[in-house]
Amino acid sequence: MPRPISATISLPFLTHNLAVVRNQLDRISTEHRRVRPKIWAVIKANAYGHGIHNALRAFDQADGLAMLDLAEAIACREAGWVKPILLLEGFFDAADINLFSQYSLDATVHCQTQLDMLSAVKVNKPVNVFLKLNTGMNRLGFEPDRFRSAWDSVTGLQRSGTVGRIGKMTHFARADEAHDLTNAQIRVFAEATHGLPGPDSMCNSAASLTPAYWLSLPDTAEQWVRPGICLYGSSPFTQQTSADLELKPGQTLSSRLISVRSIGPGEGVGYGHIFVAEQPMRIGVVACGYADGYPRHAPTGTPVSVAGVRTRLLGRVSMDMLTVDLGPVPQARVGDDVVLWGQNGPTVDEVASAAGTIGYELLCAVAPRVPKLVVS
Ligand SMILES: *Cc1c(COP(=O)(O)O)cnc(C)c1O
Repeated sequence: MPRPISATISLPFLTHNLAVVRNQLDRISTEHRRVRPKIWAVIKANAYGHGIHNALRAFDQADGLAMLDLAEAIACREAGWVKPILLLEGFFDAADINLFSQYSLDATVHCQTQLDMLSAVKVNKPVNVFLKLNTGMNRLGFEPDRFRSAWDSVTGLQRSGTVGRIGKMTHFARADEAHDLTNAQIRVFAEATHGLPGPDSMCNSAASLTPAYWLSLPDTAEQWVRPGICLYGSSPFTQQTSADLELKPGQTLSSRLISVRSIGPGEGVGYGHIFVAEQPMRIGVVACGYADGYPRHAPTGTPVSVAGVRTRLLGRVSMDMLTVDLGPVPQARVGDDVVLWGQNGPTVDEVASAAGTIGYELLCAVAPRVPKLVVS
C-alpha cells in the first residue's frame, strides 16, 4: 500500500462553484436589465492544483478558459475545448505567435515588446488580442497615456491581417477589500478605453462577486469576468468565508494517523521541541508533511480534523509527518482518517490563515508525490 495521503478533487463541487458565480451574475444582470458578463474560468497553475483535465470536465459550462501556459492551452484544444482560451501573459517569444493563430488562442498584449513581435510575424489566421491597461496594479499593461497609441498599433495590425478581434483588459490590486482603489482603477479604465469598441475584461474572483464593480462598466460592450480562486472553493475575501459564499471545496487533502502515543508533562514534540506538553496527553502522527505541500510555517493550533473531530496541529511540521493533539478524540487509533483541509475538515482558508498565507498558495502547492483521486 502507498502512503495513505491523497488529494481528492471533486468535479461536482468545482461545477457547483462555477454555477454559484454564474447564478449571481445572472440574477444581478437580470435585475439591472443587462447582458450577463461572460466567464473566463481561470485555470492557471494546473487549475490551482486541481489538474487541467479535471478543470476542463468540471468547467465545461464556462464561456472560456484563461491560463498562462501555452502547452496547457494547446492540451485543452487537443482535449476538445472549442470555446475561447485567453493566455493571461500573452506570448513570450515571436516564434510562438503562430501557435496562437493555429490553435485560436487569444493573447493578452501588455507591452511594446509584444507589439513589436506581432509586427514582425506573418500568420495564417489573425490572432485575437486583449490589450492590457495598467490602471494602478503596476504589474502588466500599457500606461493610460500610452494606451491610445498601443490601440492604434493593434488596429493597424488588424488591417494587415495579423490581429483579429481586439479587447481591452485590466487587473485590480485590492478588489478583495472594501477599498476605493478599485473604483479609481475603474475610472482610469473607463477613461482610457472610452469609445473603443470590442470586449472588456476587468474582474477577478473578488470583483466578479462584487456586483458594483462589473456593473460599473457600460452595458454596451461585451464583458468578460475572470474568476479563479472562488471556482476552487476558497474565498477571495478575508471578511467572508467560503461557506458565506456557498462555495464547496474543490480539493480535500487527507491522510491517516500512522502512530499514536502518550506523552507526559515537560515532554517535547518533534524537531526543536517547539511544543512542550503541560500535562499528560495523547498525540497522533499524520502521514503528511511539507514535502506534500502542507505549509511548514503552520503553527501549533492550526486546525486539522481527526476521525471527523476538529483538533489542532502540535509542534513543527516535518518533511513527511506532522503531529496532532488527540485530546478531543480519545478513541483515535492508527489508521484513522485525517483531513488537513477540505470536505469534513477545516477549510483551506482556515489553514492558510493560521500559517500566514492564502488558500491560493496551499491549493497550488500540493506536491506531485500526492496522488490525486477524482470524484466525478
Ligand atoms: C489569476 C488571475 C485571475 C484570477 O484571480 P482570482 O483571484 O484567483 O480570481 C484573473 N485575472 C488575472 C490576470 C489573473 O492573473
